[in-house]
Amino acid sequence: MQVALVSVGDELLVGDTVNTNAAWLGERLADRGATVERVVVLPDRIADIARVVNELRADYDAVIVTGGLGPTHDDLTMEAVAAAVGVPVEEHPDAAAWIADHDDYSHADLVDGTTHLPKGSRLLENEVGVAPGCVVENIYVLPGVPAEMKAMFESVAEEFSGEKRHSVSVAVDEPESALIDRFAELQEHFDVTVGSYPGDHVRVKLESTDEAELDRATAWLRERVTEVENE
Ligand code: ATP
Ligand code: MG
Repeated sequence: MQVALVSVGDELLVGDTVNTNAAWLGERLADRGATVERVVVLPDRIADIARVVNELRADYDAVIVTGGLGPTHDDLTMEAVAAAVGVPVEEHPDAAAWIADHDDYSHADLVDGTTHLPKGSRLLENEVGVAPGCVVENIYVLPGVPAEMKAMFESVAEEFSGEKRHSVSVAVDEPESALIDRFAELQEHFDVTVGSYPGDHVRVKLESTDEAELDRATAWLRERVTEVENE
């Protein structure tokens, strides 16, 4: 299953907030065998969000949008997603009932719009905060607050699946340029993908859907590189 992530928020674009939501979702989706093929960060602007979500929903099995759900002036995501699928936003009866039952806020205290979701969407309850999320067509709309986003994603995690990829990382104490030939040979001999990530040392990540093949490739590599000690 191929997934696109859309992270909404002006604060992400200027670097005030680090996009930990996309990183966390990438990891959780990979755990489940789904692959993230795109991550797009967008400003709090309805036209931009609607246009990009509309494109991505056609190209991927699912789109997960995070951020901009609350009732403040910069929270425009629900309206944008509704525009992307061509439906109005309207008060969702389940959302109003859920908040009345589960929250300290009475419905009257909530700013208008918190319980307004795209028409025909499925409500996703917010176990950690207030603003509800939703699913409309293949678009999942989750909150921006990381704790709320995580709890809500877990409530739909089973809807994301695919062939599980296994991975092993080997920390190598050699310059990346010196490893090129061994990487080429590794990919000739084994059905694995090889990622090379330089930093203090080179982290070599091998991945495969076949665990036995991955083990063989890892053993082959380990015999031929100088590994970082105490990793
Ligand atoms: P609420 O329902 O509480 O109003 P929201 O869905 O409207 O939340 P935002 O207003 O977009 O979410 O963001 C709430 C908080 O979560 C902000 O502090 C924001 O910086 C943080 N946040 C938003 N998006 C991300 C992200 N992609 N990664 C990490 N933090 C994020
Ligand atoms: Mg916001």
